[in-house]
Amino acid sequence: MKKIALMGSTGSVGTQTLDVVRKYPDKLKIFALSANGNIDLLLEQIEEFKPEVVGVFNTQKANELQKKTSLKVLTGKNMLEKIAKMKNYDTFITATVGLTIIKATIQAIQNKKNVAIANKETLVAAGEIVMKEAKKHKVKIMPIDSEHSALFQCLNGETNKSIKSLIVTCSGGALRDYSKEDLKNVSIKDALGHKTWNMGQKITIDSATLMNKAFEVIEAKWLYGINPENIKVVIHPESLIHSMIEYSDNSIIAQISEPDMRLPIQYALSYPERWDEAVKRHNFDRSYTFKKPDLERFPCLGYAWKAMEAGGTMPAVMNAANDAMVARFLAGKCKYLDIARIIKKVMNGHKTIPNPTLDKIEKAIKETTEKVNKLK
Ligand code: MG
Repeated sequence: MKKIALMGSTGSVGTQTLDVVRKYPDKLKIFALSANGNIDLLLEQIEEFKPEVVGVFNTQKANELQKKTSLKVLTGKNMLEKIAKMKNYDTFITATVGLTIIKATIQAIQNKKNVAIANKETLVAAGEIVMKEAKKHKVKIMPIDSEHSALFQCLNGETNKSIKSLIVTCSGGALRDYSKEDLKNVSIKDALGHKTWNMGQKITIDSATLMNKAFEVIEAKWLYGINPENIKVVIHPESLIHSMIEYSDNSIIAQISEPDMRLPIQYALSYPERWDEAVKRHNFDRSYTFKKPDLERFPCLGYAWKAMEAGGTMPAVMNAANDAMVARFLAGKCKYLDIARIIKKVMNGHKTIPNPTLDKIEKAIKETTEKVNKLK
């Protein structure tokens, strides 16, 4: 029986993780649940999954929940870290959005717990630190993302030596077919039109700008120790091939399945085993098409290589600038094309700090956010 600490249980990945847990009551048990502030759903989850520990980030919401449950509700700044340090669980799942989970993830690693990462910021902002700690404490980092899970599955049993390239597939986002001219007048609604995956607003905008793919490229570098020049992105609108590995003999191994996050989630929890029927069967009723990404229309994707080349605090700064700009766009305070333009400007203006500590990374993020928010 694998005992799970699921951070971010009321979000999209969180609820789908609970779908998997619900399916395998003899293999998986929820030890801890945490949420930001959606206590109504969290209360339902507590009643169904009977965790030993529960946390709510928002203190007021935590107090409200405390009146409705006999479980002690943890809250406050270090809530996630407190849970990460606990003894009685096996796998720490990070399905929260934002940077707050990074410290807790490192705590879980130092606590020798396996970590399944769905949070984007962890490896983008602090990949070097997280992977170093994981190696030191002999802890497995499992990806919960369709692309990284696909790469992991295609890599099985092969050594890094024979790998020529990682090929990360990309749906192309909602604005895939927009011309350069069309992109000037993209509305919030246009950018949110992405339908292949059911995701939140922030990540949907990141899919439209291809920034999400830029993050995944950086994550892939850290997860699999591949040089940036050997990571490629290919547009594959059908989202059926979730990524590929090209080996030294030019053989390419692909992972194909219906697009459903429950496959990468289930595999992260079942590995090295495979459990039955994570998704519905694929029946080859669609064609697979591929295109090269257009970095002129979607410059954010290219920033990944710039950030990796600079290293240090640069990827965290790229991420922070993007966070702030997407928030502005969603608030109707800037145009779509401003997102990429300002991120580039911020990155060009940042002097990267090599081998940064987590404190230095946090400082760079804070400064970047302030800088972007000051812009008119
Ligand atoms: Mg993905």
